[in-house]
Amino acid sequence: MRLASISVDLDSLPHYCRIHGLPESLLDARARTLVHAVAVPRFRELFDALGIPGTFFAIGEDLEEDAGAREGMRAAHQAGIEVASHSHAHDYALTRRGAGPILEDLRRADAVILAATGQRPEGFRAPGYTLNADLYAATVAMGYRYGSSAFPATPYYAAKASVMGALALLGRPSRSVLDTPRVLLAPRVPYRPDPVSPYRRGDGAVMELPMAVTPGVGFPFIGTFATTLPLPVLRAAWRACRRDTFFNFELHGVDVLDASDGIPPELVRQQRDLRVSAARKLERLREVFGWLKAECDVVTLRDAAGRLSASV
Ligand SMILES: [Zn+2]
Repeated sequence: MRLASISVDLDSLPHYCRIHGLPESLLDARARTLVHAVAVPRFRELFDALGIPGTFFAIGEDLEEDAGAREGMRAAHQAGIEVASHSHAHDYALTRRGAGPILEDLRRADAVILAATGQRPEGFRAPGYTLNADLYAATVAMGYRYGSSAFPATPYYAAKASVMGALALLGRPSRSVLDTPRVLLAPRVPYRPDPVSPYRRGDGAVMELPMAVTPGVGFPFIGTFATTLPLPVLRAAWRACRRDTFFNFELHGVDVLDASDGIPPELVRQQRDLRVSAARKLERLREVFGWLKAECDVVTLRDAAGRLSASV
C-alpha cells in the first residue's frame, strides 16, 4: 500500500510579517499566538475526524514565548501526533550562518521541544525549505531520522522569485532567501542526500523526504494551493502522483485561518489565501485528506521514514 504523510509548519504570524517585509508591531498579543491557539486545534479536529495522524513542525522560539503553544504540543504528542523541529529562530538565512551557529539553533529548538513534549524531535524541516551542506551536516550531528526540506517545484520557485523582485522594487526587501536553482533538480521521491550537495543523491545518514510535487511539470501539491485552487485542478494533480509510493502533503497553520480570526488587514493583503474563509478551507482539506486516507496508509513522517529506510 502507498504511504502518505500530512505535515503542518506552525510558523506564527510574526514570521509572515518578516517574509512580507511588514513590521511585527502590526500584531497584538492574540495575533502573535493565533497559529498555536486556533490553527493547531483546527488541524487536530481534522485529524481526529478522519482517524489519521499528522506531523507538526514547531519553531522553538514560538514555543519558548508562549506557554499555550507548549501545552498544545504536549497534548498533540500525547495524542500520537509527531512534533518535529522547524528550527529555533526560523531564520530564513540559516544556511548562511556557518556550522557552529546552525548547530546551536537546532540544539535550542530540540531542547524547547523536548521540554514541552518529553520527547526529542526525530525530524527537521528547514526554514524557507532551504538546505545546504552546513545545515545538512547539523541534521546528521543531531541524529535525526529524517529531514523534509527539499521542494523541487518549478511554479513555486518562479512565484517566490517574482514576489521577492516586486518587494525589492517597492523598497521593502523580504527577509526570505531565494534557494539555489539546484533544488529544482532534487529528486521528488525519498532519497539519501549527498552531504556536500544535499539536493543530490548520495549516502547521507539522514534520509530526505521531499514535499509533494507532481511529476513532469513540478506542480507543488501544498496547502496554499490545495485550499484555493479549483477542485478539478487539484484532483488532476493528485492523480498525476498516483504512481508515487509515498506522498508528502505539506501545509501551514495559516491554511486553516482567515481574516475574521483576527489577522491584521495589512497581512491579509499580502497573504491572499487568508481571504478565503477558514470554513471553506477546512471543508476542502477534509475532502483532500479523505483522498489520501482512501488510497494510502497515512502515517507520521517519522513512521514513513522508518518504513522507507530499508528501500531508500
Ligand atoms: Zn516555515
